[in-house]
Amino acid sequence: MGENDILIYLAQFANNMIFISGPMLRELEEALRKIDRTRWLGAFDAESVLIAHELFHYIESVAPVIATRTLQVQGGGWLKRKFRPSCSSEIGAFAFSRRLTGLGFFPRPLKVVGLYPRYPAKAAELVRRVERQCGS
Ligand SMILES: [Zn+2]
Repeated sequence: MGENDILIYLAQFANNMIFISGPMLRELEEALRKIDRTRWLGAFDAESVLIAHELFHYIESVAPVIATRTLQVQGGGWLKRKFRPSCSSEIGAFAFSRRLTGLGFFPRPLKVVGLYPRYPAKAAELVRRVERQCGS
């Protein structure tokens, strides 16, 4: 089984608990130290950002009418039906963690930085997926 065949989480909300991978968090912190995070991104605590992100998923689980679960977008052209944007939950979680922790940037790239030391192919695949969804 290669690294692209397994699900890898830096952090996860499951079974009403928030899990943070200690080894991956330490590697994320080390990577942030190498790029001089305070100079480029401002001061922040990566673990707090991860916990805030997963806290949003908890809130989604207990608030069934939250917009990230109920949002419907009307398709255009040949796509006549309404659909739920597949990444609305993740966008909401990243936006929530940004607001809650006072970050000066959208934290999604932290996921790539956190994966890269141990799972470089998975990190590269995540970048390609974002590029496909959002353009390059
Ligand atoms: Zn998430």
